Amino acid sequence: MSSVFDDLVGQEHIIDILKGAVAASRTGSDSQEMTHAWVFTGPPGSGRSSAAVAFAQALVCPNLECGACNECHSAATGGHPDVEVIRTEGLSIKVEEVRDLLTRVAWAPSMGGWRVVVMEDADRLTESAANALLKAIEEPGTRTVWLLCAPTLHDVLPTIRSRCRHLQLRTPSVDAVKQVLIKRDNASPTMADFAARVSQGHIGRARYLATNELVRSNRKEIMQLPLQLGSLAAAFQAAQKLMDLATEEASASSEIRDEKEIEKLQEAYGKGATGRGMATGASKAVKELEKEQKSRATRIIRESIDGALLDLATLYRDVIMVQAGVTESMINSDMRPEIESYATNFPAHIAAQKVNAILEARKHLAMNVAPLVTCEALMCELARR
Ligand SMILES: [Zn+2]
Repeated sequence: MSSVFDDLVGQEHIIDILKGAVAASRTGSDSQEMTHAWVFTGPPGSGRSSAAVAFAQALVCPNLECGACNECHSAATGGHPDVEVIRTEGLSIKVEEVRDLLTRVAWAPSMGGWRVVVMEDADRLTESAANALLKAIEEPGTRTVWLLCAPTLHDVLPTIRSRCRHLQLRTPSVDAVKQVLIKRDNASPTMADFAARVSQGHIGRARYLATNELVRSNRKEIMQLPLQLGSLAAAFQAAQKLMDLATEEASASSEIRDEKEIEKLQEAYGKGATGRGMATGASKAVKELEKEQKSRATRIIRESIDGALLDLATLYRDVIMVQAGVTESMINSDMRPEIESYATNFPAHIAAQKVNAILEARKHLAMNVAPLVTCEALMCELARR
């Protein structure tokens, strides 16, 4: 029999806990297993929000977390009256947004069971937003279940995390990811192996790579960049190239979505409506939406650059492996000859320094330093001998 938990790759330890909680929530007993505030943490791509959404489905499913009924389906796609999934498009979640949310979830669940809020990016709550949320979480006796997701526990305000039960997701193994790509996405074993290996347990990235030619060819170009850093001028060119590729990939994924959203919004206001109030209302709403889309685009570009930096780090990691004579666990085995010849030009400690420089650049990116400047500084550092 299928279950909402089937898609969680390599998270058996968490699935057991969630199943226990769902069972306890059904009996209505005052058991320790079910609680109304949870934090899901895990590295990017481990599937923390998928785990939270699966739990939400299970809590509202009338047939033992079947994954197939109306409730399960609508809970996952945003149509269930008692399940709200908050996906942040901007860089932060503001107090006004949390207040709106609290008004929406103030009444009892319409279907009688639980009202569930999944917050995908609880690490983006501003401090005042987190404090507003805290009051709601502390309120006893409500039927609302809060499922917060964040990269690590440190990203959640201590006052909030101390009131939540914590579930830590694992990075799924390369093999587990490979099997899913073959089974669920019909990837060929060779493609699945490549995508799983280079994405290092990031299941979304693995799937994206396995199913998207543009993403694969962009990655290939990015991985060539360190091999071409002969001069400072080349370093600046490489930085620009990295920016261009990351931006191209990001826009490919947002353009279609942006257009669809605007179309939907215009429909909601009655497209072609001539009434004056109608037209002003619609154009104001479209402007607001465009602003949101722009800030989302900025975020996606940053994420895309960050992904490229992680890829570059795997290249230097492989250089270190080659120098240490351990090649069987090479990540970029498709580039073996290039990496082997590159490795001969490096004193052993230099490759480790390059990995550090990349991690440093990722930190700067996360602190909102301008992406181009960050990439330029990094490429100059990588070019240095
Ligand atoms: Zn169901």
